Amino acid sequence: MINNIESEFDLGIDLIKNNKNIGIASHVNPDGDNLGSILALGNALEKINKKVFMFKSDDIPTNFSFLPNIDKIMDYDDTIELDLFIALDVSDENRLGKNKVFLEKIENIINIDHHISNTNFGSINIVDSNAAATGELVYKLISKMGIIIDKDIASCIYTSISSDTGSFMYDNTTSETHEIAAELIKLGIDKSNININLYQNRSIQKTKLFIKVLETLKFYHDNKVGIIQVTQDMLNNSNAKMEDTEGIISFIREIDSVEIAVLLKEIKEEDIKVSMRSKKYVDVAEICANFDGGGHIRAAGCTINQPINMAEKLILEQIKKVF
Ligand code: 5GP
Ligand code: MN
Repeated sequence: MINNIESEFDLGIDLIKNNKNIGIASHVNPDGDNLGSILALGNALEKINKKVFMFKSDDIPTNFSFLPNIDKIMDYDDTIELDLFIALDVSDENRLGKNKVFLEKIENIINIDHHISNTNFGSINIVDSNAAATGELVYKLISKMGIIIDKDIASCIYTSISSDTGSFMYDNTTSETHEIAAELIKLGIDKSNININLYQNRSIQKTKLFIKVLETLKFYHDNKVGIIQVTQDMLNNSNAKMEDTEGIISFIREIDSVEIAVLLKEIKEEDIKVSMRSKKYVDVAEICANFDGGGHIRAAGCTINQPINMAEKLILEQIKKVF
C-alpha cells in the first residue's frame, strides 16, 4: 500500500481529535527512539486533555530513567478501555509483544514509524522510511496539531533522534534532522545532560561484560565481517544483563575493515537474538529478512531458534551471498 504521508497525518490528527482514551505502547527491547517518541507524544496529548495510557511491552533499560515522565510508562493492562491505540517505532505487529492484543481489540490504530520493512498494520499509517527516527514524525505530528512543545517534550524528541542517528552520525541523518534538532535546542533543552546520559554513562559492570564479549570477536570475508557472541554464562559471570550489551555492536562496526557487524545474543539456549549493522553498502535488513526479521538498511535484527553456534553458521551462510 502506498500512502500519501500528508493525508495520513491529517487523518491521524482527526482520529486523535475525535477520541479521548488513547493507548500508546512500546515495542519489545525498547530503545531511545521508541521511549522518547512515546513520552513526547503521550505528554503532548495530555496537554490537549486526552486520557493517555503509556504501556511497556518489555522492561525499560535503566539508562533511560533520566527521561522526563518515564514513570508514567506503566505495565500492560488490557482491562483499560481505549478508543484509540498508537504504535510508535513498531515495524510489525509482533514487535508489540503482549500489547499486540490491542490491535485485535481496538478498531482505531495509528501506526507511526520509519522502518522500511513496516507492514502498515494500522488503520492509519504515518510511515516514512526517510525519517531518521520515529521522533521526527512525532515532532511533525505535534507541530501540525499546534501543540506547544515544552522543554520536556523537546528533550524526549531530541533523545529519539540522537539515539537513532548515532548522535547525528549515521547516513539517515538529513538536513531536516538537523533543522528539527536546532528547533529543539532553541527550546532550551539540556543537550549536555542528554548526551552524558546516552553516551557517557556506561557502568563498570557493563564495561567488564564488553571485555568478555570482545574476546569472542571473529572475522570473516577479508575482515569485512566481524561477529561477537553474548551467552548467558558471560552475563552471569559479569553480573550483567542482556541490555548491557547496548552499544557494543557499534564498536565492531567502527573497525576499519568491517562492513558488517553481527552480535548474537543468547536469550535462551535455542533463542538467539541477532543484531546486525553495516557501514557503507550492505543492506542488512535484507539479510535479516531471510530469518523473518527486518529493520533498516544499516541496522537490522532477527531471531533464530537454534543454538548460538548454529545461528552463527546460518547467518554466515546468508552473509556469504552478499560478497
Ligand atoms: P537492534 O539490533 O538494536 O535490536 O535493532 C536494530 C534495528 O532492527 C531496529 O530498528 C529494530 O527495529 C530492527 N529489528 C531488530 N530486531 C528485529 C526483528 O526481530 N524483526 C524486525 N522486523 N526488526 C527488528
Ligand atoms: Mn526508530
